[in-house]
Amino acid sequence: MRSDFLPFTKPLITDEDINAVVDVLKSGWITNGPKNAEFEESLAAYTGNKYAVSLSSATGGMHILLKALKIGPGDEVITPSLTWVSTVNMIVLSGATPVFADIDRDTMLVTPESIKSCITSRTKLIIPVHYTGVPVDLDGIKAVAGNIPVVEDAAHALGAFYKEHHVGHGGTAIYSFHAIKNITTAEGGMFVSDDAKLTAAIKQWKFHGLGVDAFDRQNKGRSPQAEVFEPGFKYNLTDIAAALGCSQLSRIDEINQRRTKLAMAYREQLADIEEILPLQLPQHYDFKHAWHLFVVRVDSPKMGRDRFMEKLKEQNIGTGLHFRAVHLQKYYRETMGFTPGSLPDTEWNSDRICSLPLFPAMTVKDVYDVINAIKKVLVNG
Ligand SMILES: *Cc1c(COP(=O)(O)O)cnc(C)c1O
Repeated sequence: MRSDFLPFTKPLITDEDINAVVDVLKSGWITNGPKNAEFEESLAAYTGNKYAVSLSSATGGMHILLKALKIGPGDEVITPSLTWVSTVNMIVLSGATPVFADIDRDTMLVTPESIKSCITSRTKLIIPVHYTGVPVDLDGIKAVAGNIPVVEDAAHALGAFYKEHHVGHGGTAIYSFHAIKNITTAEGGMFVSDDAKLTAAIKQWKFHGLGVDAFDRQNKGRSPQAEVFEPGFKYNLTDIAAALGCSQLSRIDEINQRRTKLAMAYREQLADIEEILPLQLPQHYDFKHAWHLFVVRVDSPKMGRDRFMEKLKEQNIGTGLHFRAVHLQKYYRETMGFTPGSLPDTEWNSDRICSLPLFPAMTVKDVYDVINAIKKVLVNG
């Protein structure tokens, strides 16, 4: 057994990152300023989008996206139930109704077919999730969406490519830089888009609803002349965080290569362990995986997922759970009346999934430790 605990994730902060943050602290300009501008420009260049707006979190971004699209009571928003609760919470807080598209049992991605079956005359927005860092079938989803906007939840997907382009290309996506994501600013997020009007609305909602007219824009905004166009929120990122983001972003390809190498080692080692099922990867389109998470399904007659996680912890191996289906959580059960059986493939996975350790400072030897611990736990029960 390992002598030290292997967490399921750990941010990789280099001396370069630390120096970048210290430089901002010494610069005399610590909140929204030049580092935010640099972070936005670099990220837009990386994803190939026209615009990027930095945010204090992806959750904040989802909140103001719904405001910017004027989504409220009577409207429906389609998203999977197997996602982080924040998206669904924001839909509910906007007054709209979340409509849950079931996922494919093997890839755990929402499909064009499942989304199509949820579309009604009230559907105002579709938010697919590139779960674990695998792109959903964007062409298929956009085809069934028609004129309904599609905004990608790309919290897991920095460095993920769908066919020849980065996800979000030509459209709109929201990234998260929470501490567990592929790059981090501790807390933070980014809205990226090719839609100028939507981007302008997001900028306004993000900072008190202050309007920036042509004159202000020439003065780079926020001039004394800026005034409230509509009461807004305060979801800006600090330059301290943005400096960390710039430094991390410069290493994204290296980080994801490392993640890929570890994921390949897992897949190879897990191939002959029958009770542990890694996710299947999409077969009918080309993609590049960002390997944000390594999720497996525990499908054993001997033990359930919760016990499997406890037993691995006793072996000094940490795990995570991404995610418990949202529709069966207390509030959603009680207010929307969801009962087990409403989303069969979501629920089948929600009961079985667990995320194995995956972070760039890990070694292949750590992967072998996880595999040995899994084998031991499955034999001993
Ligand atoms: C992390 C995450 C979010 C929210 O990101 P924050 O920056 O923490 O608000 C949204 N969706 C998914 C799928 C996530 O994993």
